[in-house]
Amino acid sequence: MEPWQQLLRKQSIASLDALVAKFGAEHVPDLARLRQAAENFEFRISPAMVDLIKSPGDPIWRQYVPDLQELEVHDGLVDSLAEDAHSPVPNITHRYPDRALFLVSPVCAAYCRFCTRRRKVGDPKKIPMAELESAFRYLEEHVEIRDVIMSGGDPLLLSDRRIDELCKRLRAIPHIEVIRIGSRVPCHLPERITPELCALLKQYHPLYINTHFNHPDELTPAAVAALGRLADAGVPLGCQTVLLKGVNDDPEVMKRLMQKLLAARVRPYYIYMCDQVAGAEHFRTTVEKGLEIIRALRGWTSGLAVPHFVIDAPGGGGKIPLLPEYVESISDDAVVLKNYAGKRYVYRQPGAHEPLPPTEFEPVLVG
Ligand SMILES: *Cc1c(COP(=O)(O)O)cnc(C)c1O
Repeated sequence: MEPWQQLLRKQSIASLDALVAKFGAEHVPDLARLRQAAENFEFRISPAMVDLIKSPGDPIWRQYVPDLQELEVHDGLVDSLAEDAHSPVPNITHRYPDRALFLVSPVCAAYCRFCTRRRKVGDPKKIPMAELESAFRYLEEHVEIRDVIMSGGDPLLLSDRRIDELCKRLRAIPHIEVIRIGSRVPCHLPERITPELCALLKQYHPLYINTHFNHPDELTPAAVAALGRLADAGVPLGCQTVLLKGVNDDPEVMKRLMQKLLAARVRPYYIYMCDQVAGAEHFRTTVEKGLEIIRALRGWTSGLAVPHFVIDAPGGGGKIPLLPEYVESISDDAVVLKNYAGKRYVYRQPGAHEPLPPTEFEPVLVG
């Protein structure tokens, strides 16, 4: 067994009893009912995340510890993105013209309670590893697919040998230009990002990794070092963050997270509205909060630190971007814009025929 596998097995918290033993029964009330929530979806907090919990109920705790609110389903959906309806063969979701999602691993180092795929993640019967052949055949036959996103579960929890096999097989398909891996391992289990894994991944460029950090505290020295090893192997790194109530629904927290990612050589890629998933509704906040966060980033910090804010449309419409309103009006002659600080500017359209009064083209200070 690899050292990282041993670490994950021995030092994770994987039961409510272990949680109580570590933090005290007073922090885990109504244990009997909570067991039901823990049974509905896999429970594990990886060693690095256990170490990060400063006090029960903090932003790290909330992401991994089962909560009684998981048992209250109002408008949550089991498969909110209709991934299974858009699955032509097991383990593949093909929703966009030129790229496909490929589930290659049923397990994660730590299980996020807000997981979009909580209906199947953690259950090897629902993400069957024995049936990858039909998925590969689908990818081979569909020559329009030029970008494959390996996800799960977490692909980087597979053995090096398995990851090598998957990448080799994908690289043998001529029309696949880009391989992507979605993984929270740099955050959850940075020890897994070994030099051997990096050397392996390096053989399969262009290979991109989108990782997942939700709070600035998660960028520990070990996580930053793991990200650095991947970047040194030439892997471009992105981050997909989820907007979560009580975790990161605060412009200052998000700004710090984006800045720390950038300093760790990760380009923030998406901030997602929390999906409308049954069992995760207590993590949802308003769309206005997300727009407020983007407004607090754009212009106020490096443009490289500003991701796209998207809603993955319920029912399977894909990711739809949302922008705060910076355009006040557009006519054939002029566009009236508001900058990040709320000042108004006018941009004259090419060939504008109405000779507008010159004063209108000068920056106008708004209240
Ligand atoms: C997110 C996603 C992709 C990739 O989308 P990009 O915007 O290209 O990152 C592809 N397929 C599915 C099903 C997805 O959910």
